[in-house]
Amino acid sequence: MEGKAIRLQSLRKSFGKTEAVAGVDLEISDGEFFSMLGPSGSGKTTVLRMIAGFEPPTGGTIELAGRDVTRLAPFERDVHTVFQDYALFPHMTIEQNVAYGLKIRRVPKAERLRRAREALADVRLEGLGDRRPAQLSGGQRQRVALARALVSRPRVLLLDEPLGALDLKLREQMQIELKELQREVGITFVFVTHDQDEALTMSDRIAVFNRGRVEQVGTPAEIYERPATPFVAGFVGTSNLLTGPAAEQVVGETGTFSIRPEKIRVLKEDRDSGTPDCAGAVGTVAEVVYLGDATRFLVDLDAGGRLTALQQNLETSSEDVAGYRGSRVRLQWQPRHTVRVPD
Ligand code: ATP
Repeated sequence: MEGKAIRLQSLRKSFGKTEAVAGVDLEISDGEFFSMLGPSGSGKTTVLRMIAGFEPPTGGTIELAGRDVTRLAPFERDVHTVFQDYALFPHMTIEQNVAYGLKIRRVPKAERLRRAREALADVRLEGLGDRRPAQLSGGQRQRVALARALVSRPRVLLLDEPLGALDLKLREQMQIELKELQREVGITFVFVTHDQDEALTMSDRIAVFNRGRVEQVGTPAEIYERPATPFVAGFVGTSNLLTGPAAEQVVGETGTFSIRPEKIRVLKEDRDSGTPDCAGAVGTVAEVVYLGDATRFLVDLDAGGRLTALQQNLETSSEDVAGYRGSRVRLQWQPRHTVRVPD
């Protein structure tokens, strides 16, 4: 059944004079992997804490599964929160940590153990139940925190930067695992992150936060390909904005436009891709950066403004790349990749 797991209406929170959340409306569906993405201080954690019940809103309402929970205590809400520091009990075994919530709710011991083992198997930690948190790696501790959340089968799992403490490689691995796990268990995940790649990798939908407001809600592709505001264009990916006289000259219209770097081909000025109906501009390469799998070109356009172009290194080597600095180039892209960004 496709229902609404969470509905936020005109949600607000002020701390003294600071308006941390300035009126947020969101609907999150059952079984969705939903991310709240935004820079530090944009209000996403405060929204998460209000959903969990740790922070009373200054205004607005919170519904969980169609029930108004705005004024209910955390334990009266069918949600569970996973924090960045995992908050594991150091003196308990892994199994005891995972079973703890069930013990509080007076679930009989045999069932507690069975469910704790099941949850540990869900996160691929079977056999480690007798260890203590200090005897696990960071990634394993992260999994324990998840198992502890899953064991009570909440309707909604709230995750506040849960991968923030992991190094990049492990973080990327856990992103995929977490997404797979979410699909398997079918629980609604609400995931807070300031990392745009993480949000794009994992989410069914993303809400982009800025200064206590949601600027855009959409699938990763919608957010990336059709940014609704200049802020979203810049925060998710390289914005590559053309505006003012440069936009008029290159695009032929007034306004602000975004062209994503990987959509742009870089050719020597005297060459043409031979593809008719291409949009394009000419300019001088100000900087060229060899990235291993790709090369980034920063090009100052004759029309004014600067565009970044990202080329896969299919046949290019680092020696070829160095020769481009200061040279004249033609940039070309499909007209449909010129996206108007509302001001
Ligand atoms: P981060 O990624 O850094 O956690 P965030 O987007 O989650 O940022 P919030 O933590 O929600 O942002 O904070 C939003 C604003 O509210 C910030 O200006 C912050 O300083 C303020 N704020 C948050 N909690 C409190 C509090 N308990 N008391 C006073 N101000 C607070």
